[in-house]
Amino acid sequence: MAIDASAPGFRRCFFCPYKQKERPNPNPGPQSAVQYTLSLQMNIIAYGNPHPEFQDHLNSLLNQAGRASEVCVEEMDPEFTALLCAWDGASDLMDHLFPLLHDTSNTRLLLSVPDQQKYKAYCKKLTGIAEWGCCLSETIAIEFAPASRRLLVQLHETLHLFGIDDCYQPASQFPKESCDLPTCLMRYETPSSHVCKNVLRQLRHGS
Ligand SMILES: [Zn+2]
Ligand SMILES: [Zn+2]
Repeated sequence: MAIDASAPGFRRCFFCPYKQKERPNPNPGPQSAVQYTLSLQMNIIAYGNPHPEFQDHLNSLLNQAGRASEVCVEEMDPEFTALLCAWDGASDLMDHLFPLLHDTSNTRLLLSVPDQQKYKAYCKKLTGIAEWGCCLSETIAIEFAPASRRLLVQLHETLHLFGIDDCYQPASQFPKESCDLPTCLMRYETPSSHVCKNVLRQLRHGS
């Protein structure tokens, strides 16, 4: 896991400054202690503009890794949407959503919000570098990329939801030696949805 010394507590990433934060756990036990493992059934609640091919691509990656589990992408319900709309863009987003997102054992959020500046401003404020997206506490993936990059950024951020690391060094953006695929999705600004063997291994074993 790469931690940038200039931003303690954050995992830096081209797409996603990666905020590490302990969450209070209202339901301690085996069911809710799976933040870093792939649940058999993972639900992703999507808001905004999830790419029409997002779910198929994600499940294809999981199948490539040998996982039988399927990810289900659900539309956000009005109560959740209202909570997001009410967020002021400054207060802690995880804390704000906690009333409806308190059990993250098998639920994650994907927010595709290229037209809502408050999300980009929030992520930039956290780390100073979020250009196209951000991933918070392996629970919320946020994408605000150009249309041509939307699918790749959504997939990149979503792999972080499963505990997958970046395949590049945060300071230099050079690829890590562990990544054997020049066009790996988890490298810096690659135009491909393919992933390297190391990412597949992490997916297979739950990071
Ligand atoms: Zn990343
Ligand atoms: Zn890689």
